[in-house]
Amino acid sequence: MGKIGFAKASILCLVDNAAKLQTKEKLHKIGVCADSLCLICGEHDETHEHLFFKCHFSKECATRIKTWCGINNQSLSFSQIIEWLARRRRGSQVRRFVQAAAMEATTYCIWRVRNEAYWVHKIQNIDHTVKHIQQIVKARSLCCLPKKVSNRDKEWIESL
Ligand SMILES: [Zn+2]
Repeated sequence: MGKIGFAKASILCLVDNAAKLQTKEKLHKIGVCADSLCLICGEHDETHEHLFFKCHFSKECATRIKTWCGINNQSLSFSQIIEWLARRRRGSQVRRFVQAAAMEATTYCIWRVRNEAYWVHKIQNIDHTVKHIQQIVKARSLCCLPKKVSNRDKEWIESL
């Protein structure tokens, strides 16, 4: 696999990174925020679990992205999906790399939507967010492809 760097260790550090984000639940606990409500839906506590991907907004984005890149796992928990991809032996590594990148991009974009809600009081719509995730995943995957990629994998990425 080489350059593409799809290793179980590196993929699991995605889970760690997500866990480090300062959610409102954490900020509320240390007295920085007046409440702990999710900035996107305003209905539930903004925990990692909620943001990735129980919130109706992120749930819809994650579900569409999973279908789009062919992740056949029922889970809607970011860490569970990543762990499942890291454990998986079936299917090509390139494909799993793209799928993990897609989930990572989904958390990144949802965190951006959440920050935009915080700073400029604007919530991006789901269609736009999903399209944006798809564009960055495709662009990043095409530019990070290892030299020895099979035509089948390349065609698959191009078809996304
Ligand atoms: Zn929410």
